[in-house]
Amino acid sequence: MSTVIPAWSIPSIPVAGESGRFPVRRIYCVGRNYAAHTREMGGDPTREDPFFLMKPADAIVMHGTTLPYPQATRNLHHEIELVVALKGGGANVPADKVMDLVYGYATGLDMTRRDLQNAAKAGGKPWDMGKGFDRSAPITAIQPASRIGHPSKGAIWVKVNGKTKQSGDLADMIWSVPETLAYLSGLVELQPGDLVFTGTPEGVGPVVSGDLVEGHVEGVGDLAIRYA
Ligand code: MN
Repeated sequence: MSTVIPAWSIPSIPVAGESGRFPVRRIYCVGRNYAAHTREMGGDPTREDPFFLMKPADAIVMHGTTLPYPQATRNLHHEIELVVALKGGGANVPADKVMDLVYGYATGLDMTRRDLQNAAKAGGKPWDMGKGFDRSAPITAIQPASRIGHPSKGAIWVKVNGKTKQSGDLADMIWSVPETLAYLSGLVELQPGDLVFTGTPEGVGPVVSGDLVEGHVEGVGDLAIRYA
């Protein structure tokens, strides 16, 4: 294909044990999927329908690097999350079939410019600039489900400069991974290459220049990012 400006490459993520990479199409993120985090954000952790936000595919950045502190914020927050990577797609896929679409899992951070998100919430405006900014999705290599299975319980935590800030268990998700994917497939047609960030436990908080952010999802991976 000839293009009138130089084309960019498809964002991609390494895969543990494979030489091929995982190409990223879209990034969906679930909001408020752990009850204690829902309460800390001022929400009601009843089983209201899940809701979603998006980040651009090129928001992914590999962990193990030093990132510039994002522009336009004075309140950058960490949200540690289990990330699902899809190899298949479909619309209106039932929960008992949707796990066939899953390629694997990664550990990710849904970095959030909380000041911009809060201002958007207060003004009834979109969250995009609070959530979908440059380098807002640090992530580990993907672990294929063929190697690690489908994690539904286990520790999920984040430390900032060695101090534990978030600590939870995957079993505490309000909506399980199959329930989340099935619901999302009722809103949009899922496709291979899609990533789904599945929500964060309580304890979200600020990250400042110089901080080391370390994250863990049991059986999936360890992540480390430093902010310049
Ligand atoms: Mn999140």
